[in-house]
Amino acid sequence: MVAKRRQTKEVAVGHVGVGGNNTISIQSMTNIPTKNVAGNVRQICELFEGGCEIVRLAITDLEDIKFFAEIKKILRARNIPVPMVADVHFSPAIALNCLEVADKVRINAGNFSDKLVGPQSFSDDEFLVGKNKLQKSLGKFLRKAKDLKKSVRIGINHGSLAPRMVYKFGHGDVAMWESAKECLEVAWEIKFENIILSFKASDVKKMIAANRLACSKLDEMEKNYPIHLGVTESGSGDYARIKSAIGMGCLLMDGIGDTLRVSLTEDPVREIEVARNILQGCGVRRYGIEFIACPSCGRTSYDIQSILGELRAHLEKQIGARNLKIAVMGCMVNGLGEAADADFAIIGSPNGTLSLYQNRNCVLKNVSREEICKNLTKICRLKLDGM
Ligand code: SF4
Repeated sequence: MVAKRRQTKEVAVGHVGVGGNNTISIQSMTNIPTKNVAGNVRQICELFEGGCEIVRLAITDLEDIKFFAEIKKILRARNIPVPMVADVHFSPAIALNCLEVADKVRINAGNFSDKLVGPQSFSDDEFLVGKNKLQKSLGKFLRKAKDLKKSVRIGINHGSLAPRMVYKFGHGDVAMWESAKECLEVAWEIKFENIILSFKASDVKKMIAANRLACSKLDEMEKNYPIHLGVTESGSGDYARIKSAIGMGCLLMDGIGDTLRVSLTEDPVREIEVARNILQGCGVRRYGIEFIACPSCGRTSYDIQSILGELRAHLEKQIGARNLKIAVMGCMVNGLGEAADADFAIIGSPNGTLSLYQNRNCVLKNVSREEICKNLTKICRLKLDGM
């Protein structure tokens, strides 16, 4: 069963609302040093054009904050309103300063004040020392975020959990949730609520388990922070796309997720297309014509692969990314049934001709592929005009 989307509160990231009734937004991150202003401006423009709705830049030192502000200024002058997020690790001081220029600051709970390298076992007192340090530095940071009305993502990464959390709770979903809870307790203390949470791992099962556990705990506490989804270090190519689709797809089907980033070791623009496909494939966002097609078999009497490609290119050119579902099926065996919820279905006949169905009614019988292409555009337009 596909769950209803988990009800979350809306958190503003610049002009984009994350959570609540907002559509699930797509994020990405530039992959060059922030000091490269021209390169970042170029990449962000490409991302924005491609459909990226929130963009993140790595801030590695105080100097980067100046470059971040410069990049933002250039983009705004070019009317590129995409919200810009500062991505900070290891330094509460940098995170604090980023609040002045960024629309949102992403921190990593595991390394905000804890050291990742050091002792691997902790007495109760040593654990408390770490916790107190986090409370102090995080409290200062969140108070400033509250004053400046900025939003914050508390990122929990399986690969960079604080060693004291791993020692106490194990290296899995429980430690990830406890790590988030520790940060949330600081936010609750000062009544800061502009929070988005993420629970990421490169291991898909761990990532899914951590998000499910966190959301069930948050629901028990009646806390409804939006969730940012991601599978970290997924790599490149098909495998990375499949891992991301499994991880994020499972959670989206659970109703979990308000914004997402697909992490690819490729040009970041490629991440946007994958994110869109995941959202459309899960039925939570529609970006354009959705084609469904049978894999073909010995009963197929026409070149289904080439007509699928031809139709996709032809229709996208003629009518653009419109909200339609078109099925291309080899034969009648499962054709009509499988295509039942499509707006149009093209079904092959044993004699090599094709028939076009609209809502299960045959509108063109036994015609050539040229006829199908020509008429389908016309019929699609009529349907869209009547919508
Ligand atoms: S729809 Fe027909 S042609 Fe396509 S895979 Fe099924 S049986 Fe084969």
